[in-house]
Amino acid sequence: MSKTLPVQKNEYIDVIFEDLTHDGAGVAKVDGYPLFVPNGLPGEKAKVKVIKVNKGYGFGRLMEITEKSPYRVEPECSIYKECGGCQLQHLSYKGQLVAKEKQVRDVMQRIGKLPNVKIHPVLGMEEPWRYRNKSQVPIGEHEGGLIGGFYQQRSHQIIDMETCLIQQEKNDEVVKKVKEICRTYGVRAYDEQKHKGELRHIMARYGLKSEEVMVVFITRTNELTNKKKIIEAIVESIPNVKSIVQNVNPKKTNVIFGNETQVLWGEEVIYDSIGDIRFAISARSFYQVNPEQTKVLYDKALEYAGLTGEETVIDAYCGIGTISLFLAQKAKKVYGVEIVPEAIEDARKNAELNGITNAEFSIGEAETVIPQWYEKGVVADVLVVDPPRKGCDEKLLQTIIDMKPKKVVYVSCNPATLARDLRILEDGGYQTVEIQPVDMFPQTMHVECVAQLILIEGN
Ligand code: SAH
Repeated sequence: MSKTLPVQKNEYIDVIFEDLTHDGAGVAKVDGYPLFVPNGLPGEKAKVKVIKVNKGYGFGRLMEITEKSPYRVEPECSIYKECGGCQLQHLSYKGQLVAKEKQVRDVMQRIGKLPNVKIHPVLGMEEPWRYRNKSQVPIGEHEGGLIGGFYQQRSHQIIDMETCLIQQEKNDEVVKKVKEICRTYGVRAYDEQKHKGELRHIMARYGLKSEEVMVVFITRTNELTNKKKIIEAIVESIPNVKSIVQNVNPKKTNVIFGNETQVLWGEEVIYDSIGDIRFAISARSFYQVNPEQTKVLYDKALEYAGLTGEETVIDAYCGIGTISLFLAQKAKKVYGVEIVPEAIEDARKNAELNGITNAEFSIGEAETVIPQWYEKGVVADVLVVDPPRKGCDEKLLQTIIDMKPKKVVYVSCNPATLARDLRILEDGGYQTVEIQPVDMFPQTMHVECVAQLILIEGN
């Protein structure tokens, strides 16, 4: 290895952690050279063994903590280390909120070039456990028996699991029961290596307010051994089940869902509500996983939109119309656009379900449909975006800059792409007024943000 690097492989060194990476590892700097060390916490001093050195950064293993962070706690979950689904259980909840605020602050400075933008403290949960309303469990076999749980970190080995502390208890119960039933009726797990077998994943979704349950089987083919008996057993043993669905994914891929979905029993959707609005949710549609915090997030988005009843609003990346319908109550007209056809079907159903007549939904890419609307003369007063992790397409940002809505509300699940996109909008004539981070994903490194932008006069 190059002698110019400040650390050598297999060397033992003393470090002080300054920061966390986006996947929760501690970051220490040795003469400016960053060393990433899983389990290290900011402020801690530790002995570290250097495991790997690259040109610009290296990896280490935590050997001994010589000065502990006051925020360090014992992880609640017994499989925390193997699972990797959570990254921050060794940090107190207060410490997590501090770390998330810092993460947002850092990217706004580094990527967004917005060192002085107003960032509020993260809005956290009172009880930061048992919040997820959706469970997606990979299925495997162990000594001939069907198991389901999680992929062991950095491997494709499935480990059986019955309890996940960030999951609604109801989902744990449902998945456990469905696994038992499948075992009883001789269902074979999908084998990734051989691309054989039948059951790939079980998904359970639970409506926190409605208490309705959906069970989804994701299978390799249309077949599911003893399908009829399995359905009967589920209906008999899970009281609030309202929908049992099968999704077929014949591909050799680690993408969970395939394109074909059929209802095996009951309804195509389950219902849930946020605030005063009821939603129909189908198996393939995106629905925020933390319903309690979703209300906090949407209320903030609504506040930032500042509607009086006279506005035309565009909701890009609208999913099943959640934000659109929240806004429609206070706007003249809302246009929603979303790429998943089933989600748009749900969005239309949801407008009807709530007696909302001033919301219109279209299927397509936001970056294709919104420019077409603009050409036809649709101009929004307020434009809301809520894109996936990769952020907004540049073409959409350019259309926003041309269309000049007075306000833009940007809901984001990835602060880095938010910062990148805010810079583009700032350069196009907008000013970021404030950013409110909301903790939708306690115990993990993820943080959601909502930002308010206004068009600067004269643009
Ligand atoms: N606003 C909704 C959904 C946000 S998630 C809510 O709060 O529930 C992001 C959504 O963007 C997903 O539903 C996804 O299917 C959709 N999506 C992804 N790429 C898209 C694109 N290019 N154009 C429109 N929608 C897209």
